[in-house]
Amino acid sequence: MAPDVRQLREWDHAHVWHPFTAVADWEAAEPLVIDRAEGVYLFDTEGRRYLDGVGSLWCNVHGHRHPALDAAIRDQLDKVAHSTLLGLTNAPAIELARRLVELAPEGLTRVFFSDDGATAVEVALKMAFQYWRQKPDPEPRRTRFLALGGAYHGDTLGDVSVGGVDRFHAMFGPLLFPTLRAASPHCYRCPLGLERPGCAMACLGEVEKLLQAHPGEVAAVVIEPRVQGAAGMIVHPDGYLAGLRDLTRRHGTLLIADEVAVGFGKTGRMFACEREGVAPDFLCLAKGLTGGYLPMAATLTTEPVYSAFRGTAAEGKTFYHGHTYAGNPLGAAVSLANLRVFEDEATLDRLAPKVDHLRARLAEVARLPHVGDVRQEGLIVGIEIVADRGSKAPFPWDLQTGARVCRRARADGLLIRPLGDILVFMPALTIMTEELDRMVDVVVGCLGAVIAENLDRAVGGESTP
Ligand code: PMP
Repeated sequence: MAPDVRQLREWDHAHVWHPFTAVADWEAAEPLVIDRAEGVYLFDTEGRRYLDGVGSLWCNVHGHRHPALDAAIRDQLDKVAHSTLLGLTNAPAIELARRLVELAPEGLTRVFFSDDGATAVEVALKMAFQYWRQKPDPEPRRTRFLALGGAYHGDTLGDVSVGGVDRFHAMFGPLLFPTLRAASPHCYRCPLGLERPGCAMACLGEVEKLLQAHPGEVAAVVIEPRVQGAAGMIVHPDGYLAGLRDLTRRHGTLLIADEVAVGFGKTGRMFACEREGVAPDFLCLAKGLTGGYLPMAATLTTEPVYSAFRGTAAEGKTFYHGHTYAGNPLGAAVSLANLRVFEDEATLDRLAPKVDHLRARLAEVARLPHVGDVRQEGLIVGIEIVADRGSKAPFPWDLQTGARVCRRARADGLLIRPLGDILVFMPALTIMTEELDRMVDVVVGCLGAVIAENLDRAVGGESTP
């Protein structure tokens, strides 16, 4: 007999270790057990319906249980679920590589498959490193990477080395390679203490100074194009990405674009790089690649990079990196279906009015007394809660304001997950205008209630929720 929900909750608490989740907080709460889904909604085991406001961790694209995606997996299952790409190949992986090259910015002609966002970036870092040692006129001193403050590229040690979120990464400091760190173009909390537009993007000048201080040493600059996700949905100013591409060219280094979070329509374009006409040397894709169905990732790169690896086994130029499920036929089949749906349903064309509607609604949110900043790029949104708008001071961390707003929202049928005190939306692209309205309305209501509690507590002199 299938276990009932009480049993499932008990077993979860007994055995499941949840990612990015504080153990004591999890143990103190009753787990929400998801049972099924439809479109932009998830349903729990008791049949309650929740609007999936963060697209099941930023990856769902055309909604859950899209008929075309479901069918693609079923059809592929009748052929083969998995066969390796190490020494063999398969039709869905080949077709997907070709389709990705057609869609990607100019010059990205080679596709290396892996499993997750973390591996997509790890692959790019290792390829870039090896490239400089093997290119026709080798530059083996290029061993360093340059990344932004607040960068997040995944949880493997290479990605954590280029990552810049102290709360996640500081613990592993002794295990990491050193990274050159440039100030994030975070205009609401400018690390250089400047203001737009008078700053003339001095943060780009800082990148240039770092490149000048380390001539011939930088293997690649790695960036989350247009929006830094985990840092708090920091939307970069227009022109920053194009400026960075220009700098990397002028200083003869490579550019790794990590579009794991922002790829596949979330910014309103298929890829965020398109917004600034940028073609990187590496494009890292995952999350939305399969429409949010299966773990699959791809690292795209150029002919010059690939050529540096061309050699027989005896020549020792091989890229000794690979994952068991690389090019998994089920994942590739659903990715192909995902990309076809973009065309069949004109997904990106239909997105623009929704993005505009959301922008208008967010303008109301931005006027709320404890909202410091509202950042939006396409359907990606970060709403930053502050204790004081003038000084931009946050509420004390132990109040867990963002988490409390999300807990309340859940009771109102909306699932969102905060980044500290930044509330995040990243729904499937198929979300309807009325559902966007509902998302905003629920958040406004829950935020008001939580802020009132915070202020009550401040009066009462308590500091814990
Ligand atoms: N890069 C970015 C920009 C991300 O946002 C994430 C995950 N949120 C990753 C990489 C890692 O992806 P994954 O969790 O699939 O390993």
